[in-house]
Amino acid sequence: MSADGLPDSRDAAFADNLPPMQYVSTRGHAPVLDFAGVLLAGLAEDGGLYVPETWPLFAAADWRALRGLPYPTLAARIMRPFVGDAIEFATLEALCDDAYAGFNHPAVVPLIQLDTNLFVQELFHGPTLAFKDMALQLLGRLFDHILSARDQRVTIVGATSGDTGSAAIEACAGRARIDIAILHPEGRTSEVQRRQMTTVQDDNVANIAIQGTFDDCQDLVKAMFADAPFRAEMGLSAVNSINWARIAAQIPYYVAAALALGAPDHEVAFAVPTGNFGNILAGWAARRMGLPVARLVAGSNRNDILVRFLNANDMSARPVEPSLSPSMDIQVSSNFERLLFELLDRNGAATAAAMHRFRATGHMGVPDAAWHRACAVFHGFRLDDAGTEAEIARLHAATGYLADPHTAIGIAAARAHPAPHAVPMVAMATAHPAKFPEAVARATGVHPALPPALADLLNRPEHYVTLPNDLAAVEAQVRALVRRNRP
Ligand SMILES: *Cc1c(COP(=O)(O)O)cnc(C)c1O
Repeated sequence: MSADGLPDSRDAAFADNLPPMQYVSTRGHAPVLDFAGVLLAGLAEDGGLYVPETWPLFAAADWRALRGLPYPTLAARIMRPFVGDAIEFATLEALCDDAYAGFNHPAVVPLIQLDTNLFVQELFHGPTLAFKDMALQLLGRLFDHILSARDQRVTIVGATSGDTGSAAIEACAGRARIDIAILHPEGRTSEVQRRQMTTVQDDNVANIAIQGTFDDCQDLVKAMFADAPFRAEMGLSAVNSINWARIAAQIPYYVAAALALGAPDHEVAFAVPTGNFGNILAGWAARRMGLPVARLVAGSNRNDILVRFLNANDMSARPVEPSLSPSMDIQVSSNFERLLFELLDRNGAATAAAMHRFRATGHMGVPDAAWHRACAVFHGFRLDDAGTEAEIARLHAATGYLADPHTAIGIAAARAHPAPHAVPMVAMATAHPAKFPEAVARATGVHPALPPALADLLNRPEHYVTLPNDLAAVEAQVRALVRRNRP
């Protein structure tokens, strides 16, 4: 209620639910679904990715009304039009409160100034010290909520080379409606990465070390999904980076940074260390919703397909090479398809044709007009391993700030492509320096310490089984996990 005793229209508006938000596939041939549907479906049936049928628009007054809110409240209000009538707003708010309560910083996504017009926004204060927690902590709770409303369960299976597995496990551990089995290549992850997965105690988590490579793990997961009876029996699902809900959950921190730097009355720009294009796409979405984002700079390591596209309209895949920033060792950025769909005026047939050509030939011919539209917003920047270590060292010497290799690429990208007219640049810090301690120590002489919550990680008991690279053995293990948790 407002002071004059009349209902406060803004709060009343937030108390109500919105009309449904529908989602369409980027390839134009999948059923239209609501938010709950796309959350559970992940990939669309036609191989495309789900995107909102229309983009919600916030006016200047709407952005101003969000200033100063606690992060979880802000997140719920930004996500509200995307969720539509699939979840009551009060429930969404409660899920956001719960998802970010476990973060190790009261601001959740603190903004730190490095130079006159250069800031970093730290996205690594979640349980696994990387930005994946921003979306996955909420996603696990959204899954649980929707599944209990439908009286269903799912079994999440995934393969990890080390990084995403722990974020998925932390998101799903202890959730009533989810079992999760994560495959990692035995002996091929770092000890910290393995322990972040294997020291989780909950009964609904199975860690499986495969005697093989990451590719073997991925092939086993694909084979499980391709085994239709097994897939149906287990209710297999995934929380991979093409899930629309992950993008939606990443938009709010762009808004938080922009509001802190004067939006909607002042412009802001972002630099983002980029792999699957999920993080930076959320920045594009914030801009599409009316946030004054002057520029988005994508930082890459030597796996630089996006940089070659932005600099020369050369979208051609090359073999993936390992680097100091392994979460960006990607040659096919799956979320790029969502931008392509927009660049092609939301033409599903044209998007499908471009993606099929890319799969078949490793080349994607993007029409020049569409490429020019991308270049009006996006810039690309590439940094090799030596440059990355040099940037970590330079930054530490100049400011005392310790950046992990991914973050350092984002900061270097911001410095290389500053927005004109002294518009503030925000570089996204995507991993805690203690997650990649060797590179940081080599560059600075400082060995970054794990935060207190993880300080005893090396002493906690581990739980995992080791299996040969054999589908029947892995399926038996997943079935045992599921039997244990379903009466
Ligand atoms: C996943 C990840 C990235 C890349 O993000 P995308 O959304 O895949 O572009 C960058 N840095 C770190 C530390 C990550 O874990």
